[in-house]
Amino acid sequence: MSALLLDGKKLASTSEIEIAKEVSELKSYGINPTLATILVGNDPASETYVRMKRNTCKRVGMESIAVELPESTTTDELLNTINDLNKDNSVHGILLQHPVPSQIDERKCFDAIDINKDVDGVTCLGFGNMAMGLNAYGSCTPAGIIRLIQYYKLDIEGLNAVVVGRSPILGKPMAMMLLNLNATVTICHSRTTNIEKIIKNADLIVGAVGIPRFIKTEWVKQDAIVIDAGFHPEKCGDIDLDDMTNISSAYTPVPGGVGPMTINTLILHTMQSAKKLIKD
Ligand code: NAP
Repeated sequence: MSALLLDGKKLASTSEIEIAKEVSELKSYGINPTLATILVGNDPASETYVRMKRNTCKRVGMESIAVELPESTTTDELLNTINDLNKDNSVHGILLQHPVPSQIDERKCFDAIDINKDVDGVTCLGFGNMAMGLNAYGSCTPAGIIRLIQYYKLDIEGLNAVVVGRSPILGKPMAMMLLNLNATVTICHSRTTNIEKIIKNADLIVGAVGIPRFIKTEWVKQDAIVIDAGFHPEKCGDIDLDDMTNISSAYTPVPGGVGPMTINTLILHTMQSAKKLIKD
């Protein structure tokens, strides 16, 4: 049997065409969808991610405003920047690139983002609304994964889903989103015992652990759905994907699976935030 490839790259590029159409329509209403990106410090990986996000904005005809702050920025200085962007009516979405330097209270800064501009789904309020099944922009990586699952019409209701990782931007919101789709969810983390046994029983696995090939091929149950959110410089994810075409029923490749959906979801959310101005 050959597994279904969950092609995030293809879905993201199809989606970009649709977003570009909507952006151009919004412009005809005098609305110029705009994402503000905030980068604090000079972490090369973060610089790359922000650049990729801004390039995607450009491709769909969306504006982006790049705010770059020095490594020595304080919590108060970052809060001031966020408050200015909150008040700026020309900005529809705010992305604060994670991680920020350690002297900054990142949670406080995330939570200062106006809920209407929280297109990256990082505020506690946004998380709470999402978890309750209310209207919210979900955190982009898990929301992108859910879009992939839905695009490929995978029925996950009642499945035994195991999320490996519980970070605020990935594992935790992922678990809530799967729960909202009626999966039965287990979350594993660094203190979990018997992780191999738990994963071996999973109908759906999400690797969000940040360790290259942490989840072994032989832990994957025959016909499980395999979602790998990890990405490492050696171009592999958090799951050993060798032979997944024969073992899983569907899987995300690395690269080209979850990664492209994350940025696409951020851009989609920003467009949706701008679009709300028409209805208001
Ligand atoms: P993170 O903040 O470092 O969280 C890692 C999680 O894995 C934590 O909850 C940690 O548990 C758990 N963990 C660590 N070691 C473990 C072990 N030995 N056994 C079980 N659980 C363990 O990472 P993240 O930001 O969520 O990212 C996870 C992965 O997704 C990374 O590979 C990252 O590159 C990738 N990612 C991809 C995208 C994308 O756009 N494709 C976006 C974001 C992240 P504790 O909570 O107990 O410490």
